[in-house]
Amino acid sequence: MGVYVHFPWCKRKCPYCDFLSLPLGDGSVPHRAYADAVLGELERRAAELPALPVHSIFFGGGTPSLWEPAELGRVLAAIRAHFPSLAGCEVTVECNPSSFDPRVAEGLARAGVNRISLGVQSLDAERLSFLGRLHDGPGALGAVELALATGFARVSADLIFGVAGQAPEAAAAEARRLVGLGLSHLSAYALTIEPGTEFGERARRGRLPLLGDDATGDSFAAVDAALAELGLAHYEISNYARPGHESRHNLGYWRGEPYLGLGVGAWGTLPASEARVRYRNTPNLTRYLEHAGAEPITLGEGSHHIAAFEALSPSTLLMERLMLGLRLAEGVDLAELESELGVEVRTTERLRAIERWQRRGALLQEGARLRLDSAHFLVADAVIRDVA
Ligand code: SF4
Repeated sequence: MGVYVHFPWCKRKCPYCDFLSLPLGDGSVPHRAYADAVLGELERRAAELPALPVHSIFFGGGTPSLWEPAELGRVLAAIRAHFPSLAGCEVTVECNPSSFDPRVAEGLARAGVNRISLGVQSLDAERLSFLGRLHDGPGALGAVELALATGFARVSADLIFGVAGQAPEAAAAEARRLVGLGLSHLSAYALTIEPGTEFGERARRGRLPLLGDDATGDSFAAVDAALAELGLAHYEISNYARPGHESRHNLGYWRGEPYLGLGVGAWGTLPASEARVRYRNTPNLTRYLEHAGAEPITLGEGSHHIAAFEALSPSTLLMERLMLGLRLAEGVDLAELESELGVEVRTTERLRAIERWQRRGALLQEGARLRLDSAHFLVADAVIRDVA
């Protein structure tokens, strides 16, 4: 399984962000208290779980590079003590350029982190300011160079394209510049406007400059072509990697593998006696800090610690596996799904939908394996909705 640890604080809230992130403002992070709470939760969850081997541990947020590396290291060491790590276990920390300096980099390396994912988003001053980011282009490039120079085995960066005023060539040039520094993995996302965010509100009032779908599509194609030229494989709709450098942790999500979620507001999906269960920890920080280590965690409802809980039926699992698996270039094996979940996958209705998209060249089938043609990644949502 994978292990995900959520660290909720950010220096400031970005206007497009709908993650669980708490702006620090002038406040400070309760480094030790938060680590203690996560450790308390880990102890209690580990008592209920078999000692499943772990292939990846991911500290996400929020901005985990704001966490004192020694405290993050305490949590990492305890996870390793409770669950056997598979050889080469990937340990990722999401970092922002504005909170990633030599002290943090060396502290994370010492703690056993071997992969850094940097929230670069852009190298252009105007776009970074539009996105509400606290760093500038040179700061982002410096952070990438620092991560590489510190010796992390893998370094990835996130880029956002499809921002008003950005030409496709500008998006591609940013991707090229970053990979030119030595990155082996890049995540490239189109800017999406989420309800409940500052951008969502501005867009609702017609006060947010937006790029149209066609222009965003052109940027996607330009980034795609630039990264293909540089030898990075497009292994998931928004992710590119040199062979062997794919995000092991995220592959686990897309392949439907179980993961243990720790921390405030974290989601997890775990095997249970008869099915899989999905839970969400309370997103209320005060409640999390009070209860994470103070009471037994039942995986069921009725706990102060749990905000949502669901036993996943085979048909729900099937829908999710199709939705997530088709995002991957490797696609999904329908026969394997059928035998694993014990449900009929190749229903008449689904086979008809598959055939429709095959005729349009969007879906390819080799034996029982079904995958999206990469030239059709842009229409993935429509295909997946239809087939899943
Ligand atoms: S830094 Fe990341 S998690 Fe924090 S507010 Fe910005 S987008 Fe959200």
